Amino acid sequence: AAAQRPRYLDGLNPEQRAAVETLDGPVLVLAGAGTGKTRALTTRIAHILALGKARAYEILAVTFTNKAAREMRERVEMLVGEGAQAMQWLGTFHAISAKIMRRHAELVGLKPNFTILDTDDQIRLLKQVLQAENIDDKRWPARALAMRIDGWKNRGLLPNQVPAGDAESFANGKGAALYALYQERLKILNAVDFGDLLLESLRLFRENPDVLADYQKRFKYILVDEYQDTNTAQYLWLRLISQGRRNVCCVGDDDQSVYGWRGAEVENILRFEQDFPGAKIVRLERNYRSTGHILAAASHLIGHNEGRLGKTLFTDGEDGEKPTLTGVWDSEEEARVIGEDIEQLQRRDHSLEEIAILVRASFQMREFEERFVEIGLPYRIIGGPRFYERAEIRDALAYLRCVAQPADDLAFERIVNTPKRGLGDATLQLLHEYGRRERVPLMQAARALVETEELKAKPRGALKSLIADFDRWRSLIDAKPQNELAEMVLDESGYTEMWRQDKTPEAAGRLENLKELVRAMEQFPDLAGFLEHVSLVMEAEEGKSQERVSIMTLHAAKGLEFETVYLPGWEEGLFPHQRSLDEQGRAGLEEERRLAYVGLTRAKRRAKIFFASNRRIRGLWQPTVPSRFVDNLPPTHVEVVEAPSGSQYGGYAVSRFANLDVYGSDYSTPGWKRAQAARTEPAREKPARAKQPVTIDGEIIARSSTASRYGAGSRVF
Ligand code: ATP
Ligand code: MG
Repeated sequence: AAAQRPRYLDGLNPEQRAAVETLDGPVLVLAGAGTGKTRALTTRIAHILALGKARAYEILAVTFTNKAAREMRERVEMLVGEGAQAMQWLGTFHAISAKIMRRHAELVGLKPNFTILDTDDQIRLLKQVLQAENIDDKRWPARALAMRIDGWKNRGLLPNQVPAGDAESFANGKGAALYALYQERLKILNAVDFGDLLLESLRLFRENPDVLADYQKRFKYILVDEYQDTNTAQYLWLRLISQGRRNVCCVGDDDQSVYGWRGAEVENILRFEQDFPGAKIVRLERNYRSTGHILAAASHLIGHNEGRLGKTLFTDGEDGEKPTLTGVWDSEEEARVIGEDIEQLQRRDHSLEEIAILVRASFQMREFEERFVEIGLPYRIIGGPRFYERAEIRDALAYLRCVAQPADDLAFERIVNTPKRGLGDATLQLLHEYGRRERVPLMQAARALVETEELKAKPRGALKSLIADFDRWRSLIDAKPQNELAEMVLDESGYTEMWRQDKTPEAAGRLENLKELVRAMEQFPDLAGFLEHVSLVMEAEEGKSQERVSIMTLHAAKGLEFETVYLPGWEEGLFPHQRSLDEQGRAGLEEERRLAYVGLTRAKRRAKIFFASNRRIRGLWQPTVPSRFVDNLPPTHVEVVEAPSGSQYGGYAVSRFANLDVYGSDYSTPGWKRAQAARTEPAREKPARAKQPVTIDGEIIARSSTASRYGAGSRVF
């Protein structure tokens, strides 16, 4: 048949086509933001399917976030239709490894219904481990141990592989031993943490060559997006699995590597050529996303980094609007000004779906959330733990986890005395002792203990009835839709009633959230499916009906694009984040700058940068100075816009503008020094323009104009 070029190849440039059509053998696409890497990857999937080179379930496609995975599935669907539904191996590293682990759980000492712990649970468990070992967790905090263990897991190290020098640094050399104990506890609980998903499936492959060979054969094509952010464990995992057919295509951009703090290694890009000799390297240079000024500003900014592979970017598009720079008085004004700006865009018929606010730290979101609720501007938080992190939601989920997974001790512990049932610490301690002695989960320990005289009559009765409740709920798992079951559990356990009786101002909101949770469950096939979703996604699911502004962290924005992007909080200490500078020095600063580059390059038409001169950090008002990244912007491609009336700040923004990159290097900028010298001690009260503070017990709870929003008695600091 005459070779008719398939439609999906239309419009791709020659380099993109090479990335799509070079199907056999390893391919590495290394290119800047917005050059169509993801588009090439998606088209490649369509091409493989269209040529019949592989079935949908024989393609492994790895993306970085759940949102990116959803978008990739949608894009493939647009190209090839329903076939994309069958792509069961399209997802994040974590989701894919979770799936592999469930299929072979027994081989790594788990049951297929294992629980995936989140950070909170992880830390609670580590606290128990430290306690059992009589280690003072004031001196050696569980959180610090968690970070170390995550670090080892990211590097693909099992407890017995931790280098001696590494292990010595925690609790006088007990680091690796504690790690081993923690892993043991996880197995007893039939649970894994996030890091385990990769580490354990890596172990699975290494210890079971036949299982590995199976996957190597199954995955005829392997595709990886955002390759620059893979950590060592992911890299090793990928290398094992792709050594079979070697049809692996990775796309990435070293300038967008922003997960160094989580163990990502840019070097993996360089290693690719060694591991896959003869790999075809494709470079893309034309940016299709952003208008000229935005691209110029972003390229100039990232040019200040030294550790770069270096590449050129150009656009054939128009220059468009210059990115704007606006100084505001404080974070509240920032939220107000941005809210008004968005309303104006809305009046000019811009879709809220094409607007995003990208923050450096998640605490910045609250101010926007509150403002937007107040003015009725619909928004969503993306990639954020907001909804599922709330206490009442976590409680409800703990109930459901106990129903689905009786061995889930952390969930059991969380709700055993919530609402109060007279099952206090003393009872819990008995359960723990019994559980440790007999090596059984708490629920089973409870079952045994209520038959003995060890418990007093009251707790014994309470525990007995709780166990009976759980048995009854569990027996209904298959008989009742999961949302009805959830409602029943929350009602019969007295949990909902507990909040109905609660007189604090938040109680009503909590009851609403519980309703929302039950509603969200409807769309899942069953309870287990829902719980899996929660542990993987930890993200609020909202109805699709309404257009919304997206609020997310810069990290979560990777790979996404919007017509208009707001970039608030460009201040020293916040962005670049002080912690990155303190912990990683120059490397930390460069990673922060890459994050700024990611932020700017999300914008198609409008990028709007803001900085405030006062910000509340951990309850204290800090006078701030504009970020050195403001200094890194090219004056010719940036426009200073004064905040609308009400702001007494504008003048500073303009004088500051004189410092846009004309002084060059990072620390020696006169403007930077001047501002640094003017820096004063943090204040509990907002300086100067602050309205009258409202205090309770000498602590400020709100300022007069906003007091009513919080209600008396609730603290906002
Ligand atoms: P990032 O580094 O941010 O992940 P990327 O390289 O993955 O970016 P894409 O998201 O694939 O870039 O593409 C950026 C935008 O350019 C998208 O809107 C995409 O549809 C568009 N695009 C990509 N290639 C082409 C092309 N050949 N013709 C027209 N538009 C294109
Ligand atoms: Mg991309």
